[in-house]
Order: sequence, then C-alpha cells, then structure tokens
Amino acid sequence: MSAAPQPHTDTSHLLQRRLRAETEGEVLFDLPSRGRYATDASIYQIIPQGVLVPKSERDIATALDIARDLKLPVLPRGGGTSQCGQTTGAALVIDNSKHIRHILDLDLERRQVTVQPGMVLDHLNAALKKHGLWYPVDVSTSAQATLGGMAGNNSCGSRSIAYGNMVHNVQGISAWLSDGALVDFGPLPNLGERARQIALFVEALARSHAGEIAAHWPKVLRRVAGYNLDIFDNQSERPYTTDNSVNLAHLLVGAEGSLAYTRSLTLKLAELPRAKVLGVVNFPTFRGAMQAAQHIVKLGPVAVELVDRTMIELALANPAFRPTMETALIGRPEAILLVEFAGESRAPLLPRLRQLVELMGDLGLPGSVVEMPDEAPQKNLWEVRKAGLNIMMSLKGDGKPVSFIEDCAVPLHHLADYTDALTEVFARHGTRGTWYAHASVGTLHVRPILDMRRDGAGKMRAIAEEAAALVRQYKGAYSGEHGDGLCRGEWIEWQFGPKLNDAFRAIKQQLDPLNLFNPGKIIDPPKMDDGALFRFPPANTPQPYRRIELRPKLDWSTWNVTNDPVTEAVSPPGSGGDSTGGFAMAVEMCNNNGHCRKFDAGTMCPSYRVTRDEQHLTRGRANTLRLALSGQLGPDAFTSQAMRETMDLCVSCKGCKRDCPTGIDMAKMKLEFQAQYKARHGHSLKDRLIAHLPDYAASASRLPWLFNLRDTLPGAAKLSEKLLGLSARRSLPRWRSDTFWRQAEPSRFADAASTIAAGSKGVVLFVDTFNGFFESENAQAAVQVLQAAGYTLHLLEKAGGQHCCGRTYLAAGMVDAAKAKLGALLDAALPLAEAGIAIVGLEPSCLLTLRDEALSLGFGAKAETVAGQAMLFEEFLAREARAGRFAPKLKPAGKPILLHGHCHQKAFGAVSPILEVLKLIPEAKPELIESSCCGMAGSFGYEAEHYDVSMQMAELSLLPAIRQAPDAILVADGTSCRHQIHDGAGRSAIHVARLLAQLLA
Ligand SMILES: Cc1cc2nc3c(=O)[nH]c(=O)nc-3n(C[C@H](O)[C@H](O)[C@H](O)COP(=O)(O)OP(=O)(O)OC[C@H]3O[C@@H](n4cnc5c(N)ncnc54)[C@H](O)[C@@H]3O)c2cc1C
Ligand code: SF4
Ligand code: SF4
Repeated sequence: MSAAPQPHTDTSHLLQRRLRAETEGEVLFDLPSRGRYATDASIYQIIPQGVLVPKSERDIATALDIARDLKLPVLPRGGGTSQCGQTTGAALVIDNSKHIRHILDLDLERRQVTVQPGMVLDHLNAALKKHGLWYPVDVSTSAQATLGGMAGNNSCGSRSIAYGNMVHNVQGISAWLSDGALVDFGPLPNLGERARQIALFVEALARSHAGEIAAHWPKVLRRVAGYNLDIFDNQSERPYTTDNSVNLAHLLVGAEGSLAYTRSLTLKLAELPRAKVLGVVNFPTFRGAMQAAQHIVKLGPVAVELVDRTMIELALANPAFRPTMETALIGRPEAILLVEFAGESRAPLLPRLRQLVELMGDLGLPGSVVEMPDEAPQKNLWEVRKAGLNIMMSLKGDGKPVSFIEDCAVPLHHLADYTDALTEVFARHGTRGTWYAHASVGTLHVRPILDMRRDGAGKMRAIAEEAAALVRQYKGAYSGEHGDGLCRGEWIEWQFGPKLNDAFRAIKQQLDPLNLFNPGKIIDPPKMDDGALFRFPPANTPQPYRRIELRPKLDWSTWNVTNDPVTEAVSPPGSGGDSTGGFAMAVEMCNNNGHCRKFDAGTMCPSYRVTRDEQHLTRGRANTLRLALSGQLGPDAFTSQAMRETMDLCVSCKGCKRDCPTGIDMAKMKLEFQAQYKARHGHSLKDRLIAHLPDYAASASRLPWLFNLRDTLPGAAKLSEKLLGLSARRSLPRWRSDTFWRQAEPSRFADAASTIAAGSKGVVLFVDTFNGFFESENAQAAVQVLQAAGYTLHLLEKAGGQHCCGRTYLAAGMVDAAKAKLGALLDAALPLAEAGIAIVGLEPSCLLTLRDEALSLGFGAKAETVAGQAMLFEEFLAREARAGRFAPKLKPAGKPILLHGHCHQKAFGAVSPILEVLKLIPEAKPELIESSCCGMAGSFGYEAEHYDVSMQMAELSLLPAIRQAPDAILVADGTSCRHQIHDGAGRSAIHVARLLAQLLA
C-alpha cells in the first residue's frame, strides 16, 4: 500500500540534515512521528517524508527554500481536522499549530485582524470578545481548527447564511510562492507587481472561460470545489465582496495549500451579536423538515440546523446530552430544525420567534415549536448539535459512518426530493445515513455506514456516482463544505467539465510551477477509492490492514464486535474477530477529529495543553498505538521505547474517557501498554516501591521516623532522586504512627450482618491506603459525619491488614498482583453490595477503580454488582440528602469555598455531588475551579523526569485560580491534588469530609 512507510531516500536524509542545521524548529523524521502526521479526519493515510514544527516564520521560509532545492513537496498543516484527506501527503509536513499562532495586528476601527495561520478560531474569538467582536465563520471544530486550515478549506459555519463562508470573510493573505517570493494577496488596486501579474493571468482565464463558468459553476452559496476562478465573475449566491470588487486573496481560499503557503491572514470581523433567540421546530416526518427549510429561511434567521431522529436517539442515549436534548423535544419528532435569530437586543427578536410559530401553524404544524429565548439552554443545545458528527462516530465495530458525499449542497426547494432520493440510494446499497447540519444552505451532512476494510470502497464509489447524478439533476454543488482532498478531488472535473479543469491546472502552473505545494490535491488527484491510500487498506491492496497477535491483559471484548450498517445493532462482545481481543478495535475508534486538541472546558488532554505536541495528545497516542498494533511500525513496536515515550506524559486522568466523542479511554490503554511493556522489559525499583506501598504501609507506619528520613536527612532527597527517580523538589507523603487503622475502635463499627440489617442506614466505608495511613483525619472525619447522621458503619478489613483496590499495582503494570488485591476486596464487599449497601470511599482514584478497571479484569458479575454500589463519600451524601436521609446540622463556613475536582471525579460525573453537598453548608456558595488535571496524577508528579510538566499542568488554571482566592477554603478530595496545591501554591486543601466534620454543629 502506498500508505506504508517509505524507505528514507538520500534526499530525505539531506532534507532532514538541512532542516536541523538551518532551522530552529523540531525536525521529526522517525517513523512514529511521521505516522502521527499521516492522517487527518478522513479515511486516508499517507506517511509523510518528514515533519517540521517551525518555531518562527523564518523557519518556514527556510524550509520552503530547502524543499525547493531538493524538489520535495510541502504540506502546510493546522489542526489536521480535514475530512477529505487534503491534509495527508508524502511531503514535508509543516505544522503551524504549535508556534505560528499569534495575532499580528488588530485594527478595531476597520474591524479587521491579521493573524498567523496556526491560530485556532476559538482562541482568536476569545481575544476579540472584550471588544464586542468575533470572527463569524463558526465551524463545529472551532476549538481546534486553525485560521490557516479554515482558509485552506474555505470552511463554513452554522451561521453561513448570515455571514458567508471563509471566502466572504478573508480580506488579505500574505503567502510564500514556491519560488520563495512572499506576496500580498488582497484587493486589486493594492496589489504589488507580482500579485498584479497573477491577477491579470487569472482574469484572462476567467474571461476566456466565461461561457464555461456560466454553464458549469454551481450557483449556490456552499460551493468549495476547485479554485475560485469566479472571483472575476461571481457565481455565488452571496458575492465574495460587498461592493463586487475583486480580492485576489480569495483565489487562495479553498486551495487546500496547493497554490501557496499562507504566512498571515487578514480577516473581516463582525459585531458579536448581543442577543439570540432560538426556536426548535419539531417535525413528525423528515421530509416535512426538508420541505419547511425553504420557507423558514425567508424569516431571516442566522441559522437553520437539522438534527434527525437517529441523532436525537444517540443524544438521548448519552447521559451528558440527554437532559439538553429533552428540552428541545415535543413528543417524538422524526427531525428537529434549530432556527436562530440574532440581533442587537432581545426584544425585537421575540416577534421573530412568534412569526416562526405562526409560519409552522400555516404549514400545518401548530404547537411544534419549542421557544428558547434565553441564552443558557440555547448554548447547551448548540453544543449537542456541534457534537453531532462525533456522537455519530461512536459506533463500535469495523463498519463506520464514512465521509465522502456528506456536504453536497442543493437549492433549498429541492432539498426534500434530494434527501428522499439519496436515502433510496443508501437502501439499495445495504446501508443508511444519519442526516444533520446546515438546512439553511441546503448542505446536509450524511454518512452511510461502510466497512472500508472489506466491501466499503466499491459501495463508496457506487453511492458517490448516484449521489453525483442527483446533485447534477438538482443543480447543486458536489463539494459544499469540507473541501476536495482525496475523496472529492476526482469529482472536480466532473463538476466543472474538462475546460475549467484545465483552467484550474493553468492556475496551479502559474502559481506553483514546481508542484511544490500539496501535490495531488485539486489538480491530478488520485481515485477516491484507491484502497492503497486508505487508513485501513482492504484485502485487494498490496499491504492490507492487519492486526498483530496479542493476548491482552485487560478485557477489551466490548469493542470486539461487528455492526449492522442498517440497524446499527452490534454483535455480542468478543465476536468481532480482532486478533488483539478488541484492544486494536478500541484504539481504532479514534477517527482523528482532533477534539482532544481543545483548551477550553473539560479535562482532555492535559499533556497536550502543556506541550502542544501531537505526540503527547490523545489522538497522537491512539495513532501510534494503531500503527504499532497493525504492524506498521515494525516488529515489537507496541512494547518499544518509542511507544513508551508516547505514553509517558499521559497522566491517566481519564479526561478522554469522558470528553473524547468516540470514547477513547487512553488511561485504560496505558494500563494495557504498561502491563505489556513491563512484561517485556521488567520492573524498576521505583515501580516496585510504589506498587507495593499498600503491602508495606502498615509496617512502615510503625517506624515513621525511619521512612521519613528521605525528607528529614540532608541529602537524602537528592540521593533518592538518583537511585529511584523521585524528584528531590518534592516532599513525599509523611508516614505516621497514629494511622486510622490504629485509632479505629472496633466497637464503633458494625459487622457485616448488622450493617445489612441497618438497611438504608447501613454503609460500608472503604478506607484506602492513602487515607488510612497518611491522612487519617479524612477517614476519621468521614466516620464522624456518617455516624452523626445515624449511619451504621462497617469497615472492610481483612486478617493481616486493610483491603486495597490494586491501583498502584495496575499503574506499574502488575496486573496479576492488582487482580489478587481487587479480587479480595470484591469478595469482601460482594455480600454487602448484594444486599444493596453502599460501598463508600474517600479517594477518588481508589474508589472509582471499582467502577472502572475492576470491570475489565475478568471478574464478571461480581465486579458489576460491587460497581453498582460503589460510590464516593459525596455521591453517597448527595444521594442521601436528596432522599431526605441526610440533613446534618452545620455551621456556616464563614469564608468562600473553592473546589478542585479530581480528574477521575470529573470523568465519572462525580463533581456536581460535591457541590451539592457543599451547598448543605449554610450560606455557602461553593465555586468550582475550571481546571484540567492538577498534574500530580498519582506518582507522576513525584517523578523527577515529570516534575516540570507536572507543575506546568498545575499552572494551566488550578494554581492561578487558587492564588486569586487567598481567603478561600480549598476543597480537593484527591490526595495527590492536595499535595500539588500545597507544593505549587503553599496552601492547604482539605477533603470535603473534613470540612463537613469541622462544621458539624
Ligand atoms: C467533527 C468535525 C466537524 C467539522 N465541522 C466543520 C464545519 O462545521 N464546517 C467546516 O467548514 N468544516 C468542518 N470540519 C472540517 C475541518 O474541521 C475544517 O475544514 C477546519 O477548518 C480545518 O482546519 P484545520 O486547522 O484542522 O486544517 P487542516 O486540516 O490542518 O488543513 C486544511 C487545509 O488547509 C491547508 N493549510 C493549512 N495551513 C495552511 C497554510 N498556512 N497555508 C496554506 N494552506 C494551509 C492544508 O494543507 C489543508 O489542505 C469538521 C471536521 C470534523 C472532524
Ligand atoms: S482521541 Fe478522541 S477526541 Fe482525539 S482525535 Fe481521536 S476520536 Fe477525536
Ligand atoms: S488520560 Fe488524560 S492525559 Fe491521558 S490521553 Fe487521556 S486526556 Fe490525555
């Protein structure tokens, strides 16, 4: 397959040498690094020659010179979120997103901004907000799409009916041509000599092809195919400029990096709408929604977006989206349209909502509109809509919704007939599609489910041909949003005809005669169904996709399934035929959409937020795992040093488990990796010391002075750093002899039978190693609070010590030892769990092991039963308070309360219960710190090699927020979070149990 790694040629070596010598950027030519840049969010994969992550514009200019000298192609890259393969190529990939991402100039008077190409849209809009402005091309990937990539693709947002596409909002582009010239593209009168020559050339082409343009150019807003030859003879429903003047920068918009390399972009800004109202129209039939769109747009909305029944069902099935989706529904609609009106203030918008209601009445659908005049519910619903594609991609099994005809645009009055006809096409090919997105502009996203490893390619071509015929019949555009790339490149000639295709070729020849920039895109593209270019090449290709043989240590069988493309029903766990037991299939769930590159709310992905490296990103890790598990990185790659480095900065925060739309659970993948890696390379002394902590904790606590010597004896910390790799800049948790276990008076606790007999007032307290031995106050406080509220407490003890969840062993890759510990804990907890007694824990990562890892270790129903009753202290109290069984008498705290949620609490939705419990304190208005991982993450932050990264993670938002609240009581339930807060801000944080105990009246 041409997707396979290519041997390094002499030129490639030379390229690498020169880049290292002549630029300051990161030069990445090892196979795993190149593999991480071989994919975008499409079905394709092409391993690049090498990767440069430039530090400066000078690096880019130098790299272009070197590439030109060596006649090697160049592929500019932003977030790599394209869906058509335009960001893949056997070229030198230059990644702008790490350093080339700044605002160069902001002109408030003229309402324009000049930015570097690697700047992310959301970051620009965050900077503009205080000026009441925004850049309104609001793509769904706004948190990771770069302005350079958006211009490359001529991207379009949900509100394009009001603001237009990228091409309507770019005012100037400064770009390098392949001969090294830096040229300013902009309004015709302002052009320099070189740009003027280009303009004259393109104008002559446009004039000589006027007839062809008039005959073949789609007359819709959403046409992004080919080059914008129509700048001299506008064909778009919305002219590219407001005064019909010509702007040469528009020629580069949508060129997919194949004409020039953008150095900077000048963008037209819009006033941030001060008010928005939303009407959600519920339709009993899908066709009804399609027919109504053309009438609704006449009311002047800024967006009309579709969500179909399947998407509604998927959203309802997701606990994170369900409550929001329910707010939009009346009964059980087959489709809903989100109709947004925006303006200066809310009052004049409300009559527009009424007009919508009246219109729907006139169209025979009275009572079908949910009116949302307030911003908060609107915002939530838009988030669900934005997550639409990702929700759809969470289907397990080899069949996946495939993007290739998903942004055909047709005139609105044909929308209903077009969607009906396409649905029939899908049915004929044994599949079906889920419809969503931009009804306002006739661009509906739809992805039939295909298995690209088997018969997908053939079906893809057949469906594409029939869809294309429909697009032609309805006078639409085949490529209306996501670009051409590899999957639609061959359709450019079909859409425009051979003469215009030759004109495009002439433009390419004029601007890039060396064919330096992203070759094979727009001009001379490959066949869309060339299986050798697929990420999963099928059996009929020279190197079909295969998976290595691997016996996993954890249970991955839920992913090892097949699915039915029509019903989406999945086969039983373990039946998918994966030679890695489902591990590879779990890894392959990553579709490269790049959502993990976000910096906003949520936890995912702290190591990327700190490093901005593709390697230290959930996507980068998933890609490296996929390449290794499919043998593309050579033998034993899965347990190689390169893989270790890739997994190294993953702090196992489980942020991706919750935030990744396809549910990539890298923390669990790291456990599997760690177990396999350690099985091959052995355990270090540090591994053993940390893993076996629960075993020696009781003995060590008898001689605390001895075990604390590391932090009391001068020089001992330095020595421990040398010998064990534990950072001398950290103090370790202090051993003490007054442990919870020594202080727990047996008479205060009930036996199992009495606890069961206590019914709803019985509780099992699972005291973990950390709260049992190091911070006993927390466990004592929990006992105090629970007993004061009348609960009968039972402790999970065993002969010779306390129970352990096995977490420290798992983290060190000692799966068997972890299983032994966990198995004993489950056995002890099972009878109580079976009796419906809550198993309550204090340390989030320990207790939640029962709800997470324990389910992947082959314990079967036993683990499920215990998991069903395992809850954190605050989850339990919140539940009890809701049921009226917990109403403690508390004194006011007298100070503000600031809460930091442990990552695992966030991953399991267990943060809001802490807030609920804190609100039981009179006058308390607890505030949650919007933070990612604290950076400590178990032993991670204690390790010398991770100290700096760990502190950088804490400095992302946690420590600054704490410093801003010098008087606040800090609540943090995680032992390591408290330690990090102490080390980083010199403040003490406490477990919620202690705060409650202190305030008991
Ligand atoms: C889940 C999902 C939802 C999406 N929703 C939308 C949507 O609502 N609307 C939409 O339009 N698209 C959407 N897309 C597609 C994609 O996110 C957008 O096109 C986005 O703008 C691409 O930005 P990027 O930074 O990832 O670009 P990249 O993929 O990195 O690059 C895109 C193209 O631009 C070129 N390029 C990048 N930088 C430069 C430069 N400096 N000079 C010249 N060329 C350059 C690249 O070579 C490539 O051809 C979606 C994709 C996904 C996965
Ligand atoms: S890891 Fe998840 S969020 Fe990141 S690219 Fe893959 S699927 Fe998207
Ligand atoms: S577990 Fe956390 S650090 Fe690791 S990949 Fe996921 S989000 Fe990133």
